[in-house]
Amino acid sequence: TVDWHQRAQQLIANKRIAYQAYIDGRYVDAQDGQTFDCISPIDVALLAKVASCSDRDVDAAVSAARHSVAKGTWLSMSPSARKKILLKFADLIEQHTEELALLETLDMGKPIRYSLAVDIPAVLKCIRWYAEAIDKLYDEVAPTSRDVLATITREPVGVVGIVVPWNFPLLMAAWKFAPALAAGNSIVIKPSEKSPLTALRVAQLATEAGIPDGVFNVVPGLGHVAGKALALHMDVDCIAFTGSTVTGKQMMQYAGQSNLKRVWLECGGKSAHIVMPDAITSDGDLDVVARNAAAAIFFNQGEMCSAGSRLLVHESIREKLLERIAHHATQYQPANPLNINTHLGALVDQAQLQSVLSYIHSGIEQGASLRFGGRQIVQDKGCYVEPTLFDSVIPGMRIAQEEIFGPVLAVMTFKHEAEAIMLANSVIYGLAAGVWTRDVHAAHRISRALKAGVVYVNCYDDDDITVPFGGYKQSGFGRDKSLHAFDKYTELKTTWMRIANP
Ligand code: NAD
Repeated sequence: TVDWHQRAQQLIANKRIAYQAYIDGRYVDAQDGQTFDCISPIDVALLAKVASCSDRDVDAAVSAARHSVAKGTWLSMSPSARKKILLKFADLIEQHTEELALLETLDMGKPIRYSLAVDIPAVLKCIRWYAEAIDKLYDEVAPTSRDVLATITREPVGVVGIVVPWNFPLLMAAWKFAPALAAGNSIVIKPSEKSPLTALRVAQLATEAGIPDGVFNVVPGLGHVAGKALALHMDVDCIAFTGSTVTGKQMMQYAGQSNLKRVWLECGGKSAHIVMPDAITSDGDLDVVARNAAAAIFFNQGEMCSAGSRLLVHESIREKLLERIAHHATQYQPANPLNINTHLGALVDQAQLQSVLSYIHSGIEQGASLRFGGRQIVQDKGCYVEPTLFDSVIPGMRIAQEEIFGPVLAVMTFKHEAEAIMLANSVIYGLAAGVWTRDVHAAHRISRALKAGVVYVNCYDDDDITVPFGGYKQSGFGRDKSLHAFDKYTELKTTWMRIANP
């Protein structure tokens, strides 16, 4: 019943969009007054002129965070007290669900139905889960001799820099800020310059919830300016990064050039989705596999690090599976993401649109067979491209090796299980992989052989905050989500206490 187009117009006309940096509990302009244009990919409307932070602003945010660590208000608070505040923070975000979902859709083009039903609920669940976890975790006592007590405790690392991309803007930040804050750290978030709006909005809600000034800071700005300044800063203890593999490598260099801060990387992917011949024994099976294969690459415009962007199908079932995928792809016709029935919205910006189109062009040039899609859709000057499927792809082609980050599926066939595994592992990435089979032995064998941080058997993109998410190989290291995420935001301390003379 909501008219999202009208809501969007009101939001923009009323100038209610937060556009300044958030440092030490208040909104501030960049010190040199610089801004960048935040443009909606739906229709290239100017949403806001956002503060473009430089190293001076990053320095101010890191100083505020460091000061809050030194003061210890947040860090020394009992876990149950921190939990209470974080739960209130989640409640406030929930009360602003529609506003935040709308900002997410306007900013990066994803369908409003998913911002509402996926992104914001997942953010809430993430914050609540870590809040609930912290007053239930115990430290350890080592099994040493009786005259000493050796404790192994976890302590917050201190100041955590969070650098995130634009495909799930607030959720990728929450996967990091929720465990980092729960563990007692102070944070400085550098959102993507393509999607800064929700991080800026929730910063104020953090203060309203009772998170002390200086603990939650946001410095919008360009990657090679604000992101670089944060990653090179001598007083940042840890960088938690999600983004491309190219930038991830730079993050490691920045750490080496500065203070050897801890670096955790969640980078790109080119995930293989394997369909064994025994997976399809009926029309019902065929439909389930095809629906999942389509969703794995077309959901979120294919702008998914874990997208099943390579479909490896046994040659005996290729034809009927591709026909059925084509049927399901019709659901993903690009349309204005503010329409509640839209399943595939706009790509994040013109640069991403051109990049996806150039990959489509390379697929055609290198001899893959374009089975459907491939065209730009011109609508309101927005950034739309059709769901696209290439058949007869050869492993050496660019569309088989490189992350496209758009709705483009590359299909390859195999004859034997070993060939499927070899193809699946033949890229630099190792984020996710999927396998469909009815044979439990094959499921075990194949999932163990796949070099990927997450393997889906007879499903794809299942998700829960309770399980770790992250990659092998050049998809990065360290894990978001689950209790394992605390490893990134805490230092392990061993304390020896002699308690009796021998
Ligand atoms: P990107 O690497 O261009 O940017 C990511 C962030 O890094 C942005 O905030 C950007 O401003 C910043 N940045 C860019 N250059 C920088 C520099 N020189 N120094 C410091 N900071 C810099 O990536 P993107 O285009 O925003 O996001 C898409 C990528 O993110 C894809 O590769 C995707 O697979 C990956 N991703 C991975 C995961 C995961 O969990 N593994 C999840 C989502 C997205």
